[in-house]
Amino acid sequence: MADTQHSPVYSANLSYVSPKPESPWGTYLAQVDRVLPYMGDLARWSGTLLRPKRVLIVDVPIQLDSGEIAHFEGYRVQHSLSRGPGKGGVRYHPDVTLEEVMALSAWMTVKNAAVNLPFGGAKGGIRLDPKMLSNQELERVTRRYTSEIGIIIGPQRDIPAPDVNTNAQTMAWMMDTYSANVGATTTGVVTGKPISLGGSLGRVKATGRGVFVTGREAMRRLKIPMEGARVAIQGFGNVGANAAELFAHSGAKVVAVQDHGGGVFNSNGLDVAALTEHVLTHGSVAGFSGGEILGLEDFWGADVDVIIPAALEGQITERRAERLRAKLVLEAANGPTVPGADDILASRGITVLPDVICNSGGVIVSYFEWVQDFSSFFWSEEEINLRLDKIITGALHHIWATCEKYNFSLRTGAFVVACERILQARNERGLYP
Ligand code: GLU
Repeated sequence: MADTQHSPVYSANLSYVSPKPESPWGTYLAQVDRVLPYMGDLARWSGTLLRPKRVLIVDVPIQLDSGEIAHFEGYRVQHSLSRGPGKGGVRYHPDVTLEEVMALSAWMTVKNAAVNLPFGGAKGGIRLDPKMLSNQELERVTRRYTSEIGIIIGPQRDIPAPDVNTNAQTMAWMMDTYSANVGATTTGVVTGKPISLGGSLGRVKATGRGVFVTGREAMRRLKIPMEGARVAIQGFGNVGANAAELFAHSGAKVVAVQDHGGGVFNSNGLDVAALTEHVLTHGSVAGFSGGEILGLEDFWGADVDVIIPAALEGQITERRAERLRAKLVLEAANGPTVPGADDILASRGITVLPDVICNSGGVIVSYFEWVQDFSSFFWSEEEINLRLDKIITGALHHIWATCEKYNFSLRTGAFVVACERILQARNERGLYP
């Protein structure tokens, strides 16, 4: 069989995707490949990790404002439901593919297990450019997509949330559509909703907060003083901007920011509030008067202590890993580092705090939102932040201790802890029939 020529991971070849080593699904498979040798008897269930449990591809037709009919490609992938209902965001982006959504859903499985939330992993997406659609068109596409995936989502089945280019308004439309279809207001079907519709305080800022809290803990351990620490951030959306605010507030200097429009640099630290305001009005950091222009590749070579990829996958390539001058990489994005770059960073003594722990603040507060919706009893923001900090630092310390004991990288340690939990659940549930 042709499969025998491949490593165990690639023998999981699926007919419906052709991952490359550096593509999102290829990256995920390589990450799993590294931890399977540590799974002991549980390794017999490894196929569970190497393929999604369920993949749904839907056609999403809508009428445009012009009267024309447009069709969009939508996905919902449930990578694993072994530890609980599916959980993970919905992404709107012109480059979304099935393979990308598969990887993102798998990273959700690992993330939810790494911080021990009672969820499996899922992700959704629609292949569209939100900038090309009016608000009304976005509402129609969201509602039709929700209806189409309605056969597999639900508060006990799979709970979507915001991701790149989706937000509380998107979740309100999803909640309303699902509720209309089932005939009962069902707040628990999505998280990241507006507060007035069963959303949770602290959810919008939760991912950025988690990046900051885990970053602060890592800096303490690596003896990088927060005061005056130079920070670079790629991506100034919800996650990047909120993390920037918290770092600046704690005495660090956000010296470099890059987004889809360009890059800005100020060695004295950028004024984060003014930059946020600029992005709100101009849609990008480009043209910000409080700093100099920073070239695309120069961003990666900036003289900083901490670098935070907070945009899309595959940004830290091998070439960029060679140039990085930071001591610490905080993966606020999902899958920003390709496997070869991971090795280069490790050999250069640069610590990588992996996505599955670093950006888990969002899904942790999503879990709180889901619990609050069930009990119809809502907590204060103070309580939410306290519980978030406790769960995320507890998970980080547990993973860090595992890494010290076995001399793993933080990514391998996080994957070992998470994959053991996933496969353990799979093993205990057994097969049916
Ligand atoms: N989209 C976020 C993530 O990648 C949050 C998912 C959620 O809250 O379910 O972790």
